[in-house]
Amino acid sequence: MTRVFGVMGFPISHSLSPVMHNAAFQALGLDAIYAPFEVMPRQLSPVLQGLQVMGVDGLNVTVPLKERLARLLSRTDLDPIALTLGAVNTLVQRDGRLVGYNTDVEGFRRALVEEMRCDVRKKRVLLLGAGGAARAAAWALAQLGPEALWVANRTAMHANRLARWLRRHTPRVTIEVVPFGRRSTAKALAQADVLVNATSLGLRPGDALPVDPSAMHKRLMVFDVVYPVRPSLQGAGGRAPTTALVRQARRRGACAIDGLAMLLYQGAESFRLWWQREPPLDVMRRAVERAIRKNN
Ligand code: NDP
Repeated sequence: MTRVFGVMGFPISHSLSPVMHNAAFQALGLDAIYAPFEVMPRQLSPVLQGLQVMGVDGLNVTVPLKERLARLLSRTDLDPIALTLGAVNTLVQRDGRLVGYNTDVEGFRRALVEEMRCDVRKKRVLLLGAGGAARAAAWALAQLGPEALWVANRTAMHANRLARWLRRHTPRVTIEVVPFGRRSTAKALAQADVLVNATSLGLRPGDALPVDPSAMHKRLMVFDVVYPVRPSLQGAGGRAPTTALVRQARRRGACAIDGLAMLLYQGAESFRLWWQREPPLDVMRRAVERAIRKNN
């Protein structure tokens, strides 16, 4: 029987996950489909029951449903990382139950380590943002043991909450909150080795840069979790489209990547959970890159 997978979120039309997973299914000759489902937060509970009854094999979950879903599932149906983060981005059907996982953490870690080749030990990291992506990135970073992790966010209360949560779970790492203003982040950047942008700035056309670009020095490693899905993120001179932050960082000689690798690796981890086999990473990467070029 054809296995059924998908991604739910609101909105969902921009998601690159269907292209990525359908390409993987096709390349491996798997009898399966992957579809986008637009689900509003208030619809999540009945949708969840329906998915269970219909026996849908697995789902990805995106903004704004990840945290709500973690609250809806019972603790015993949450993988330890999803439980700690309070956010689910992958559901796996197991013996008639939907089990929640969070593959964003591993997606971020692999992108940082394998794609950017960044070893954060003895490094000072400035993390911008305090939402779901920032929490996953912060968790992955804290496990890797940086010298210091500085958190800055538009709403200071959210930064403080993230910092308190991190300190509780990873007491060995030095966690500090930095004001989000341009001057304060520029000051922190002068002493930082790694910058992670996990705000949604850069997603919409016309968004401001999250930091003063002139504060980015050439030793800096920049990881923008935003991926180039909008037409405004066009690549110049035939280069692959990327985000404005990555372009600015590279212009200053810094090593920088956007969120495409994280998207790819979190998808690869979901694939592994669903199929218990190695995902065809190259096929998935090519499919996503093709879709981005087509969008741009
Ligand atoms: P959330 O809504 O949970 O968090 C959004 C964050 O961005 C908050 O910290 C918010 O600050 C901040 N923010 C929003 N608007 C502004 C603004 N105008 N100025 C400054 N800060 C702002 O979203 P997520 O954490 O889930 O997603 C964040 C980004 O990460 C998105 O672009 C998303 O596409 C991307 N992402 C990429 C993934 C990948 O695989 N590459 C995976 C997951 C997400 P405040 O607290 O003040 O509201």
